[in-house]
Amino acid sequence: MRLVFVGPPGAGKGTQAENIVRDYGLFHLSTGDALRAAVKAKTPIGLEAEKYMNAGALVPDEVVIGVVVERLDEAKSGCLLDGFPRTIAQAEALDKILAEKNSPLDVVIELAVPDDELFTRLASRGRADDNPDVIKQRLVAYHTQTEPLVDYYTKSGILKKIDAVGTIEEVYAKIKKVLDEYK
Ligand code: AMP
Repeated sequence: MRLVFVGPPGAGKGTQAENIVRDYGLFHLSTGDALRAAVKAKTPIGLEAEKYMNAGALVPDEVVIGVVVERLDEAKSGCLLDGFPRTIAQAEALDKILAEKNSPLDVVIELAVPDDELFTRLASRGRADDNPDVIKQRLVAYHTQTEPLVDYYTKSGILKKIDAVGTIEEVYAKIKKVLDEYK
């Protein structure tokens, strides 16, 4: 099963990804985690990405697509992409990569949470990019650059929207219901 999570920062993508990886044994690729590791290790990609991440902006497509191409080969028995794609250009690149492997996406899950709830969640999380000004920028980046993916995947007929307000368990139960159709 090849699965993508689309949702604003704070929607619970990382938390729900951990549940899915535990129960479904998928390879988990979080571009946010990969980029944070690169920043910490001060690799050339990390040094390039850091300034965008600190400003709450998206890292340029070519940098992130490079990170994904490198890792996707490890995904033999399906994958969960969390935080990628985040732009239409990334979605098109992903479609191309997966078409070459003859392994298209099965489902895209949109985790929907209203902005005011996101703001409260993120402000209490305490990550370096979780201060109010940067949070605002990240939400703007989501609405302008990432939300168009909802339309893109609706047109491909693989989008499932989940209301992600509620407890972690409640939201995970809804996700499982969707995934169990694909098992
Ligand atoms: P996340 O942990 O997914 O919230 O990502 C943290 C930050 O990493 C984002 O605010 C972006 O600056 C950067 N990032 C992660 N994934 C991507 C992506 N697919 N495209 C561009 N930037 C990304």
